[in-house]
Amino acid sequence: MTTTVRFAPSPTGMIHIGNARTALFNWLFALKSGGQFIQRFDDTDVARSKQEYADAILEDLHWLGIRPTLVDYQSRRFAIYDAAVGRLKDSGLLYACYETPEELELRRKIRLSRKLPPVYGREALKLSSADISALEAEGRRPHWRFLLPNYETDPFATQRTEVRWEDVVRGPQTVDLASMSDPVLVREDGSYLYTLPSVVDDIDLGITHVIRGDDHVTNTGAQIALFKALGATPPAFGHHNLLTTSTGEGLSKRTGALSIAGLREAGIEPMAVASLAVLIGTSESVEPVPTMEALADKFDPAATSKSAAKFDPAEVGVLNRALIHQMPFDSVEVRLRDLGIVGGDAPAFWAVVRGNLERVADAGLWWRILRDGPDDADALSEEDRAFVAEAFDLLPAEPWDGSTWKQWTQAVKDATGRKGKMLFMPLRVALTGRFSGPELADLLPLLGRARTLARRP
Ligand code: GLU
Repeated sequence: MTTTVRFAPSPTGMIHIGNARTALFNWLFALKSGGQFIQRFDDTDVARSKQEYADAILEDLHWLGIRPTLVDYQSRRFAIYDAAVGRLKDSGLLYACYETPEELELRRKIRLSRKLPPVYGREALKLSSADISALEAEGRRPHWRFLLPNYETDPFATQRTEVRWEDVVRGPQTVDLASMSDPVLVREDGSYLYTLPSVVDDIDLGITHVIRGDDHVTNTGAQIALFKALGATPPAFGHHNLLTTSTGEGLSKRTGALSIAGLREAGIEPMAVASLAVLIGTSESVEPVPTMEALADKFDPAATSKSAAKFDPAEVGVLNRALIHQMPFDSVEVRLRDLGIVGGDAPAFWAVVRGNLERVADAGLWWRILRDGPDDADALSEEDRAFVAEAFDLLPAEPWDGSTWKQWTQAVKDATGRKGKMLFMPLRVALTGRFSGPELADLLPLLGRARTLARRP
């Protein structure tokens, strides 16, 4: 059977690096096993879901390098869920409940005061048809609960019922179905909660592995029971730890914290985001991995830690710089061309500047400096001006190579007595208009004698 995974966000906001972690765990899992990745939008909440968010998520995934074989929307599949509901009702596994939230809260408190687990006591199962008619006559509409298989013959005599699975991330897992309430699958207004549509889709789309955040571990117990109630074999499950900020706060789609779109707009490389999103909170060291294939080689879901993965947003920038500093010319050639960086000098230029870049786009600035001169010609002090003019008279003859800088500065040192920073900083400023940047020894041959002389103050 082909490995089939899915990423199933609700399109209610921009996805952040924590959502990207789930998407990438799925994508890398599929990549490693030659499987396929389905993009499913959990948009049963029609009021909060928006097509523009779904489109933005698709764009973000594409930018990250994820290529779904199929994109589907739960809002287009209501008929399929209705049919599943019909089957569950027919088999008595979905029952009508009429309690208000206040009534449920009161019951919960009573159970707690009696030292009973605060789960739903299935009182609705005791309603006679006369009771139901009376409630409906009051204008109450039912919500529908799934009867968990946590009893032998009497649903009021629940007993420990372990659901076990071998989690692809966390190893052996056990959930006791007697410790949870029968989940509500359909609300009073007929709308679906997430639990049922997800299972129906996972069956229908042939999902073999459900990989998602560990906030779903308990859901999995109920969902495995639901798969079985619908006559299906449950898929394999994997639950990864969630990303939190260093202060332990969770990330939220709504706050826009570390959104993928924001990182993209800030000029961060997709593989810097992917490397951090995947490797943080695992036993692997967090380092920039240049390609998705290489990241797939490093990816081992079982190496994920069970506690929350705290991370510092500044790490994205660190990884981004490290990634750019080792990026080969051919992987960036097209983007450099878009920045106007073309011609025979372009590969050598890239090799010289990449170690100084925060973002690839910043290469454009150095290209301009190199070709058109410093953008801040006034950065030199009056005193340095005379020194630089004298130094320029000592420029060696061409051809220039990697040793020219040393040769030149030795001559300047001998003639002027200046050394160290006093010597090279004014030269750097005269050549580039900046106090820091690529190695001058590397820059000089790229500049050539004519362009260097044009910078004589
Ligand atoms: N829409 C659910 C979520 O974002 C999907 C969970 C799942 O993957 O099953 O949490």
